[in-house]
Amino acid sequence: MELTITDEAYQSVLAQAQNDAPVESCGYLLGPDRQTVTMNYPMRNIDHSEEHFSFDPREQFAAVKYARQNGLVIVGNWHSHPASPSRPSAEDIRLAFDPNILYFILSLAGEQPVFNAFAIADGEVKEKVNLR
Ligand SMILES: [Zn+2]
Repeated sequence: MELTITDEAYQSVLAQAQNDAPVESCGYLLGPDRQTVTMNYPMRNIDHSEEHFSFDPREQFAAVKYARQNGLVIVGNWHSHPASPSRPSAEDIRLAFDPNILYFILSLAGEQPVFNAFAIADGEVKEKVNLR
């Protein structure tokens, strides 16, 4: 599976994550279809943690409503790993409840940021998705 993300959406994710570091940052990624991300929808990490994140349920509801009203779908959610690699932690996999969306992780641990997307279902990573 391949997925396209616009430079504008990626730059928005990157700027938000760098601004929030060392706390983990998070958001939704929206697009016109499930293979295309055109927008970062920023969310607050209500855990304010450097090692995990949680969404505010009211913000999640607002994001879903925003997507619907604008003819977009939620392609996935993303969070940052300020100091660890771009792959799902055991907790990330455990908390990936929705098999219909992708899970994006932006790592700021190396010299260059690394952004990957993963399909997670049944408690395991099914696929690493190529981003274009
Ligand atoms: Zn994580």
